[in-house]
Amino acid sequence: MDHAFLVDLLGADQFSTAETALAEHATDWGTEDADGSAPDAVVYPDSTEDVSAVLAAATERGIPVTPYAAGTSLEGNPVPTHGGISMNLTRMDAVQEIRPDDFQMDVEPGVMGPAIEEAAGQYGLFFPPLPSSGDISTIGGMIANAASGMQTVKYGEIADWVLELEVVLADGSVITAGSRAVKTSSGYNLRDLFVGSEGTLGVVTRATLELAGRPEQIKGGRVLFPTLEAATAAVADIVQSGVDVAKIELVDAEAATMSNAYTGADLPDQPMVFLEFHADHGIDDEIAFCEAVLSDHDPEQFEIADGERMEDLWRARKDLAPAIDEYDPDRGFRHPGDVTVPISEYGNLIAYAKALAADYDLSIPCFGHAGDGNVHYAILVNPDDPDEAARAKEAHSRIIERAIEVGGTATGEHGVGRGKREYLVAEHGEETVEAMRAVKRALDPTDTLNPGKIFPETADGERVRADDGE
Ligand SMILES: Cc1cc2nc3c(=O)[nH]c(=O)nc-3n(C[C@H](O)[C@H](O)[C@H](O)COP(=O)(O)OP(=O)(O)OC[C@H]3O[C@@H](n4cnc5c(N)ncnc54)[C@H](O)[C@@H]3O)c2cc1C
Repeated sequence: MDHAFLVDLLGADQFSTAETALAEHATDWGTEDADGSAPDAVVYPDSTEDVSAVLAAATERGIPVTPYAAGTSLEGNPVPTHGGISMNLTRMDAVQEIRPDDFQMDVEPGVMGPAIEEAAGQYGLFFPPLPSSGDISTIGGMIANAASGMQTVKYGEIADWVLELEVVLADGSVITAGSRAVKTSSGYNLRDLFVGSEGTLGVVTRATLELAGRPEQIKGGRVLFPTLEAATAAVADIVQSGVDVAKIELVDAEAATMSNAYTGADLPDQPMVFLEFHADHGIDDEIAFCEAVLSDHDPEQFEIADGERMEDLWRARKDLAPAIDEYDPDRGFRHPGDVTVPISEYGNLIAYAKALAADYDLSIPCFGHAGDGNVHYAILVNPDDPDEAARAKEAHSRIIERAIEVGGTATGEHGVGRGKREYLVAEHGEETVEAMRAVKRALDPTDTLNPGKIFPETADGERVRADDGE
């Protein structure tokens, strides 16, 4: 790629072709090896104008541009598949304005969770849909991946908390999607089109977020179960009974073993459910209601607390990601699973994953945002054992296929990226995927933005160009 044009468009410290910069942008958290995915150049825009100038020039020259933020994606979402430019948005990290009377905040895309929480916290406000990775990921990445998190069961996902977006399209034009009004029925809802578009339709350069008042009362804790069936049935029962729970997370016995090894906690290796409650008053009544619902499911060691004790009780869930990563030095964490099913299918799906683990002789710890019917799992694989790797790949596919069969989705919150492209048609049907392609072609006819993602045919290196359309 001839990148001389970037010199004219940007300051000298705003682009790089250094090997280290290219290598950094060739992976994300879920992509260990770059496998030919390095960009040819990395740009670091400071402003909407920079983003617009680079996109317009790249589109004119047929050069792909892949937005890159903190790179915490798990499906290869920000990893270029056609070289070109990696557009790193982390320098655009200002909290621009807070309007506490409207419960609103305007931010640039590179702002991370802690900065949002700190700025909102000054007014007794918070941003409820931050993902578990909120401390290490950007709001632009969260919006582009349609992130959600532990509190989604009470507050909803990121799409529910984004009011307005400024977006730069592939041709460099700048549009505003949505409204600062909390409701609107004015034309197509383009805002939600960009949420979850994984940088394939436009680059978000500003977001107006909605905020919530901090609850007066917060309590949380943990309950152990004798069997996984009892734990998953309890989760479904809590949700179906309408308990007002702010977080409800599962850790199965295998994940508990890993967490105990990592944290040194003296907990039994048993399935556990972690709970948190938020209220302005009457929190103990809600906790009592929850305990009554749980009583049908053989709970053990039910304990709810506040403050530091609550943090202690939650430790086994909060430290789970590094615990799984470090558990078996010979077996890396592969296939970060993220399927979501209707809550009535939650227990069945987990039972299915565990049965597959036994059939395929694999270790598949299951955990995740249980109240949403979101099943996270890891498959531990020895990279030097091709047979184990093949069994893991097959088990992973079967779990996803089963989730789709029962009315769920291949990806609850991590996005399609490269990893879930092959399931798109099975989940939505060919006609629906063709409608998605039509949107892509309309907004980005030359497939400048993040080519090679989402659509199944792009696995073979195709690009979704308007001139390829029917
Ligand atoms: C330990 C761990 C825990 C996690 N937990 C959760 C969780 O609870 N919930 C959840 O939803 N996810 C979770 N994730 C996945 C990931 O952290 C989130 O999807 C996160 O929002 C990605 O943000 P990022 O800044 O790292 O974006 P990146 O990974 O850099 O990019 C994500 C996607 O957004 C695009 N993009 C980035 N910035 C922009 C922009 N400004 N405009 C347009 N497109 C853009 C990129 O091209 C890419 O397709 C977890 C990941 C890890 C490693």
